[in-house]
Amino acid sequence: NVRVRFAPSPTGPLHIGGVRTALYNYLFARQHGGKLIFRIEDTDSNRFVPGAEEYILDSFKWLGITFDEGVSFGGEHGPYHQSERREIYKKYVNQLLEAGKAYIAFDTPEELEAKRNEIQNFQYDAHTRQQMRNSLTMQKEEVDKLIEDGQQYVVRFKIEPGEEIHVNDMIRGDVCIKSDILDDKVLYKSADELPTYHLANIVDDHLMEISHVIRGEEWLPSAPLHVLLYRAFGWEDSMPRFAHLPLLLKPEGKGKLSKRDGDRLGFPVFPLEWHDPKTGEVSSGYRESGYFPEAVVNFLALLGWNPGTEQELFTLEELVKAFDITKCSKSGAKFDYQKGIWFNHEYILRKSDEEIAQLFAPIVANNGIEATMDQVRQVVHMMKDRVSFVKELWDLCSFFFIAPTTYDGKTVKKRWKEYSAQQMTELADVLEGIDDFSVEGQEPVVMKWVEDKGYKLGDIMNAFRLTLVGIGKGPGMFDISAFLGKEETLRRMHKAIE
Ligand code: GLU
Repeated sequence: NVRVRFAPSPTGPLHIGGVRTALYNYLFARQHGGKLIFRIEDTDSNRFVPGAEEYILDSFKWLGITFDEGVSFGGEHGPYHQSERREIYKKYVNQLLEAGKAYIAFDTPEELEAKRNEIQNFQYDAHTRQQMRNSLTMQKEEVDKLIEDGQQYVVRFKIEPGEEIHVNDMIRGDVCIKSDILDDKVLYKSADELPTYHLANIVDDHLMEISHVIRGEEWLPSAPLHVLLYRAFGWEDSMPRFAHLPLLLKPEGKGKLSKRDGDRLGFPVFPLEWHDPKTGEVSSGYRESGYFPEAVVNFLALLGWNPGTEQELFTLEELVKAFDITKCSKSGAKFDYQKGIWFNHEYILRKSDEEIAQLFAPIVANNGIEATMDQVRQVVHMMKDRVSFVKELWDLCSFFFIAPTTYDGKTVKKRWKEYSAQQMTELADVLEGIDDFSVEGQEPVVMKWVEDKGYKLGDIMNAFRLTLVGIGKGPGMFDISAFLGKEETLRRMHKAIE
């Protein structure tokens, strides 16, 4: 019974690395006929950012990643906001205290700081807890009294030294560490009556019957502690299996991908545009930059996993079939944003002309052009293989709708010969006499005329292009003239010859 979860903290916009984590969870759930749960880990009220939760949900809606249970989806294992589960956590903290697997500590931040200055590489653990103010070193009456007096305290996890802890990771295999290097982690703080991430995460994964924990590599160092917590609760038999995903690295390959890399190199690191409620700063998003959600999903799926074949283009359904969590790489994945642009181009090609035309039509209209849907579709058909984003079409295609007012100097110099005006006047006459102005109608007539006259085809086509579009490149000439129609074609020609 596969049950996986994506459990973000609402501390800001969803980073693209988080999207990939959610995507891998989604693929894993779907391919096993399992469930994907959306949990909000909001026990750290200091880092709460308003709007973040809605932003994350909107992002997944846009990307087409769907959840089965959780915040805003409902389900049997709620509530799914950790901030609404205080009472549950309290019960489990007490369970650990009663079993002697956790203890209460009163050390103030100042006292801890003093210890850090006194002892090099101080860590709160089996070797140092004797010197601290906690329920292991104090009399029970004293502890009770302090609590009664309202003294703030934390609950620490009592880690036994001299143990080897094994984490069986689906990607990394057996990861083994010694318990001596772990400190007695804080599990709960009386000040806000809330657990820390570690306790809440384990309790929730257990109660929500999570079967597999698929998350970023940054959580691997916490995994041994989590294994110990499962053991302390007596939940080892139902402990989830772990998979820690490789980091997303800077495009250069060194260091973790950050928002600054995006700003520096001009690509988004967030799925949607984000308006920071505190600073007012706006960060660009994939959606607003003109990416298709399918392209983003496809691009992200291949950052850290590959199918072992040459295939790069996958629909979400194909990914569900092909994805294999055990084949994820152990080393970080370079964030090659150029590849993301390539994916978007490929998706433009795969989408119907109609679909792209629907997106392009408003841009045409915004440029003050009244064009029929059919015209927009024709232009899209001719030009979509030249762009990576729909918004790039206008610059390439405006000549279809707007007659040139200038003629590119370099092209004129190279391609407009002393006899071009004469030839174009003749060509205009030839075109005048053609009734069927489609590509098929024009082409044979013009070709025959060129041949009869003994003109050079290159000369004719270059000059023809200049008269119609004013620049030296574009789609096939008869495609352009057919689109413009006889009247507009002749109008542009005569204007150019003048
Ligand atoms: N709340 C954690 C995060 O923001 C979840 C980590 C986990 O999946 O265990 O990434």
